[in-house]
Amino acid sequence: MATKNFEVIIVGGGISGCALAYTIARYTDIKSIALIEKYEDVSTLNSKGTSNSQTIHAGDMETNYTLEKAHTTKRTSKMIERYCLGHGLQNDVIYSHQKMAFGVGEKEVEFLLHRYEEFNQLFPYLEVWDKEKLKELEPRLVYDQNGNERPEEIVGVGTRDQWTTVDFQKLSKSFIKEIEKEDVEFEIFLNNEVKDIEKSGKRGYVVKTLRGNFYADFVATDAGAHSLFLAHRMGFGHNLGCLPVAGSFYMTNQKILNGKVYMIQNPKLPFAALHGDPDILADGNTRFGPTALVMPYLERFKPGTYMDFWKTLRFDTDIVKALWKLLKESDIRNYLMTNFLYEVPVLNKYLFLRAAKKIVPGLKMDEFEYADGFGGVRPQVLNKDEQKLMLGEASIFTGEGLIFNMTPSPGATSCLGNAERDVKYIVKYLGKNFDQEHFNDELTEGEYCVLPAPLESQKAVVNLIRAEIARTHEKYMQDTIHNAPDEEFWNAPHSKLK
Ligand SMILES: Cc1cc2nc3c(=O)[nH]c(=O)nc-3n(C[C@H](O)[C@H](O)[C@H](O)COP(=O)(O)OP(=O)(O)OC[C@H]3O[C@@H](n4cnc5c(N)ncnc54)[C@H](O)[C@@H]3O)c2cc1C
Repeated sequence: MATKNFEVIIVGGGISGCALAYTIARYTDIKSIALIEKYEDVSTLNSKGTSNSQTIHAGDMETNYTLEKAHTTKRTSKMIERYCLGHGLQNDVIYSHQKMAFGVGEKEVEFLLHRYEEFNQLFPYLEVWDKEKLKELEPRLVYDQNGNERPEEIVGVGTRDQWTTVDFQKLSKSFIKEIEKEDVEFEIFLNNEVKDIEKSGKRGYVVKTLRGNFYADFVATDAGAHSLFLAHRMGFGHNLGCLPVAGSFYMTNQKILNGKVYMIQNPKLPFAALHGDPDILADGNTRFGPTALVMPYLERFKPGTYMDFWKTLRFDTDIVKALWKLLKESDIRNYLMTNFLYEVPVLNKYLFLRAAKKIVPGLKMDEFEYADGFGGVRPQVLNKDEQKLMLGEASIFTGEGLIFNMTPSPGATSCLGNAERDVKYIVKYLGKNFDQEHFNDELTEGEYCVLPAPLESQKAVVNLIRAEIARTHEKYMQDTIHNAPDEEFWNAPHSKLK
């Protein structure tokens, strides 16, 4: 049983806890850190490669991000890249794949072209790929099972030369290995569940675990959905409830996509739209998903967390109102219902095939299976005061020596960014120092406010695609000149066509 006092205890050894421990050890003058993890190893839950989509979400493909948000996510995602490259982790922890946001049909094509024009200064590496180019780069996006071209207009906005994919469990282990090289006292306690955190009679906090009490001046909780569970036990965050949204995947039996293909995301939903990714743990076979299913467990495949779910939801009339507001939105209602059906055996494959065919029109039933044992839980947070679902991550900064972080997607990408934020708070509270310059120097590319000039050649491609769409419309008009015009046609964004 430990009796000594640590300056900082981190509860939860997922990617967030490991990144925070590394950031403290490398960039501050804090001298003693403990990491307490419930299971036998770090990152066996949501940060494990089979639980998440392994994607670095930089903001270039995430069509629901504003330019401002993408500016932040680009900075934090680069931290992962720079850490991995700085430690020679290429093709072991970090991988480079082709990736694109993919639009189908006139509206989506125009949306992506417009987005490209807005975002290409922040992401100057983006390219615009029309149908002809896609035949070469991702043929399965273009052809159906009979080898015919799909009839709709399509476009991809993507890149072939970025670091895109990470095994976040391996990254967690690398953080731990690197801490051991630092001049800091660091202890990791595995197989040890934190049951309670209490204010100590003398100073700081007592962290009560299954294997005894630990003492710290500061406690940072990075325990996923259980962060809120522990916060509630201490009397914090009672205005928040947790809605665990499980995500499952479907795996193909061979590589059918060369890279990552992301669909356009509904901005009302906090979940990534359906995408196909080469799985680095399955020989590059394509993993489609994730789905989204609200379930009464805080951890996937762990029925023992059923009671914790009810305690963390804090079910009351405000939760009912928040859920009612959510379900009133037809987009959300339909999305949740469809995703529920994706978990119903037999039926799920048919329904999923229909959805995935938007990406791969020639996908066949015998090419993929429900990926058993894959998937994780996104701890989405419900704000009871505002009676609404919070779209991203949530943290409780208590104003004392405690932080509680809940990190749904893309929490793995932002682990070092979140650690930077938390470290600033921790050193301020403890009267210690954070070497921001050293951090920036090693992990960031600097600021992105001075943007490079737009790429004229790519703008020309955008306008060529628009001209092609305009020609199709003109032909359509000539063909239907004697008939009633089609509704869809008049809804098309003519005004934007050049
Ligand atoms: C289907 C899906 C797809 C995703 N795809 C992506 C993606 O492509 N890119 C991306 O960036 N993000 C993605 N995410 C999100 C990402 O996986 C999470 O944001 C990230 O893993 C969260 O890391 P964490 O360390 O905060 O939490 P976790 O990985 O959940 O780790 C929490 C840790 O705390 C431990 N713990 C819990 N309670 C206690 C306790 N009482 N005592 C001690 N330890 C405790 C747990 O055992 C666990 O190890 C995805 C998530 C899902 C579910």
